[in-house]
Parts: sequence; C-alpha cells; structure tokens
Amino acid sequence: GNEPLVVLSARGLRRDFAGFVAVKNVDLDVRHGNIHALIGPNGAGKTTVFNLLTKFLAPTSGRIELLGHDITRTSPARVARMGLVRSFQISAIFPHLSVLDNVRVALQRPGGLGVQFWRSLAALDRLTPRAMELLRSVGLDDARNRLAGDLSYGRKRVLEIATTLALDPKVLLLDEPMAGMGHEDVATVSDLIRSVARDRAVLMVEHNLTVVADLCDWITVMQRGEVLAAGDYATVSRDERVKVAYMGT
Ligand code: ADP
Repeated sequence: GNEPLVVLSARGLRRDFAGFVAVKNVDLDVRHGNIHALIGPNGAGKTTVFNLLTKFLAPTSGRIELLGHDITRTSPARVARMGLVRSFQISAIFPHLSVLDNVRVALQRPGGLGVQFWRSLAALDRLTPRAMELLRSVGLDDARNRLAGDLSYGRKRVLEIATTLALDPKVLLLDEPMAGMGHEDVATVSDLIRSVARDRAVLMVEHNLTVVADLCDWITVMQRGEVLAAGDYATVSRDERVKVAYMGT
C-alpha cells in the first residue's frame, strides 16, 4: 500500500524497575506525516515509553529504530542530533529574553541540548532571518519583540515548540502539550501540531480524548505496561478492552 514511512519503531520493548515490569512487549510504529497519540490510564507506562524512546532510560530488552538506525544503545544527546526531539528537553524558554532571542538562542545550538551563550552579536544577527522564518511558520512573528514571559500560556507553549523546531527534528515527542489549556489555546496548539506534522512525525501523550479524536492519525492505547489496542480513533474507540480500561466496567 501507500503507508507513509515508519520513522520510529519499537519492538518488544520492556523495562523492569527492581522486579516490577513497567513496560512489556511494546511494539510501536510512528510514521512520517502522522500525529500519533499514546494514551492510557495513569500508570499505564506512557512516560516510561517516552523515556525509553528518547534513551533517558535503557530498555531491559527490546529494540528501537530511528530512521532505519538501531538506537537501542545510543545516547540521548546523539538520538536528539539524529532527529528525535522531546519538547521538554529544551522547553525552558527564557522569560526575560524576547521571543525572537529565544528562537535565536535555540538556533545557535544546532543538534545540541546544552545551553550555550552567545558567541557574538554578529553571530546572533546571522540567525535573524531563520528565526523570523520559524516565528512566521508558527504564527509568532507579530510577538517577536515581546518578552517571552509576557506571552499567554498557549503562546508560550507555541514558543516552546518553536524552539524544538530549531533543532529540525524528524520525530517530535510532546508530553501532554495541551495540559491546563482552555479551548482557544487548544485550538492554537492543535493547528501548530498539524502544521508541524506535515513534514515530520509527532508522537504525543495526551489525556484529552476530544483532542486525540480530532487531531491524531493513529492511537496506541496502553494499560498496565502493555499495548491494549492500536489503530485510528474509530477503531480503538470501538475496542471492548479499551472501553473497559476507560470506563472500568
Ligand atoms: P504513565 O505515564 O502512563 O502514567 P509511567 O510510565 O509513569 O505511567 O509508570 C508506569 C509504572 O511504572 C507505574 O506503576 C510507575 O509507578 C512505575 N514506575 C515508573 N518509573 C519508575 C521508577 N523509576 N521506579 C519504579 N517504578 C517506576
């Protein structure tokens, strides 16, 4: 068929914590151009899977591939340079810097995750065209001279995502990107995620099932460390085991 390319995959992923199995037998395929949701009740293992995929945790067993490369034993920094970026890795925006400077700072550490300080104003200036292009693409160009700390909650989240885009990720992992947001901010961030996913893949943990139904092409449902169901929203929402997991009946 014409399925988009798998850019991130896990096979038989397992993680034990002192005898407790937090994640087991997890298979996952994240495809280019897709928005993929990881959902499930608290304690299902979603955060552990994110930590395994980004290599913050080593798997007890299993295999992870990014863009066709085995990254099961690759360091987090290298995985980020290869194109797998998690939003919170650099989500600390600098509230006392302007929106434009936040993006220029992000652009001057290509592939790196550590904070480096500006080498020179000239070096910073060279980044302005790219920074403005990025700000235009996320709809923040009108706010370029405002302090990041003065933005609304939703636009701060948009700026955070913009700083992750400075690393040019192929796969972007978002941890509850809509948490604590009202309708308007949810709509803004949803639009951004749609546009971000046009030429990369997005994997997100999200609790709001309305958002998941509206936004996501593919959904992996976890429960007690295992994949309970996977498919599009219509498929997983019809699944009896998913209904039981969510309704508890
Ligand atoms: P979720 O993100 O879906 O809520 P988590 O991945 O945070 O689930 O947790 C899955 C299970 O693994 C939970 O039972 C949790 O208590 C356990 N767990 C997570 N991290 C650790 C750890 N570092 N040590 C021991 N148990 C852990």
